[in-house]
Amino acid sequence: MKIFNLGSINADFFYRLPHLPQPGETLASVGYDRGLGGKGANQSVACARAGAQIRHIGAIGAEGRWMVERMEEAGVDCSQVVIVREASGHAIIYVDQAGENSIVLHPGANRTIPETALDEALDQAEDGDLMILQNETGLQVEAAQLAAERGLFVIYSAAPFDEAAVRAVLPYVSLLIVNEGEARALCASFGLSLQELPVKQIVVTKGAQGATWHNLETGGLIVMPAFPVTPVDTTGAGDTFAGYLAAALAEGCTRERAMRLASAASALKVTRAGTADAIPTRADVEDFLDNQPKL
Ligand code: ATP
Repeated sequence: MKIFNLGSINADFFYRLPHLPQPGETLASVGYDRGLGGKGANQSVACARAGAQIRHIGAIGAEGRWMVERMEEAGVDCSQVVIVREASGHAIIYVDQAGENSIVLHPGANRTIPETALDEALDQAEDGDLMILQNETGLQVEAAQLAAERGLFVIYSAAPFDEAAVRAVLPYVSLLIVNEGEARALCASFGLSLQELPVKQIVVTKGAQGATWHNLETGGLIVMPAFPVTPVDTTGAGDTFAGYLAAALAEGCTRERAMRLASAASALKVTRAGTADAIPTRADVEDFLDNQPKL
């Protein structure tokens, strides 16, 4: 099965500074780095590294071609990523010597993905393919509705949490993925418990506490503890988890096996610094699993 991802593509610009700048201050950086980021791009790279056939639907500005090249190198089909007049989505990230950060995020092109790119991509979709989406682009409702009408399995990461977006997208969702904070916000918004939310399947990720899959139709529960690792950088753990979970489901894995693969991939990710570039390959994940103590 193919996976379609309506997702953000962001450039992360990191500046290492002696301290975070004060109002009016001009400060020389002592280090600079540039990386591929954005929840959408991260999830596409995770799907590709997991071995899935993944097509990204998105938009960049003309200066953002290097990001598409990075995604293609990882194995993502970017034929439906269009170049628009806006600047590419980007984050300016200041990091001080204590590791404290301050971030300015410009959504840019991610909010102007043309509907034609979505339509053209989904024209290639077949019954049973998967659609994944998050909250960093426009067109989520259109994409979720169109995908559901065409018989696709719709996986929605409701992040960053946006109450209006979640309420509009949820009726078309097959599987909702949230972290604990997003789960709390969603329950508070509906005034319902997790088990009462209007969706069939929910996965809740809980950082070092692992993840749970709640089947709201049957009351079934899968509990997946996190693998014990020494964390170096947890950025992108959630996207690695979501991408690997989608890839495993597309491959026909059981839910238990998909949760195990996603948990192993995200545990490996947190042992590495970086986001998209640090997402492990399927071979690394299988090696990691082979080296776990047998229960
Ligand atoms: P982020 O926004 O940083 O990408 P998130 O809040 O969306 O993360 P988390 O719940 O923090 O997502 O993490 C997703 C999954 O990654 C967890 O369910 C777990 O399997 C794995 N994970 C995260 N942190 C750790 C850790 N310290 N040790 C092992 N696994 C971890």
